[in-house]
Amino acid sequence: MSQKKLQDNELVKIKAAHKLSFKNAEVIKASNLCGCFHCMEIYDPAIITALDYKTEADGACTVFCPKCGIDAVISCSNACDSLSTKFLTEMNQYYFGF
Ligand SMILES: [Zn+2]
Repeated sequence: MSQKKLQDNELVKIKAAHKLSFKNAEVIKASNLCGCFHCMEIYDPAIITALDYKTEADGACTVFCPKCGIDAVISCSNACDSLSTKFLTEMNQYYFGF
């Protein structure tokens, strides 16, 4: 099993973006574009419906991907300045190890 060694700055971006996949409903709804690092689709957050949210214990909502049903949705705002298939692939390899 060989995994590409990530640069430190890439790892920082990946970890920062990963935080955006949890309790992220407000951030995702306010963004123009979001992507899923499980199925690696990039799409308009407008397709996310109320059925795709899960309410956490503290009342904040986490988005589940409408394409694959996994809570791996991030937006292109804040820490993740480069939402791209390449970036989602790096996150996918780091967190899912495919
Ligand atoms: Zn997905």
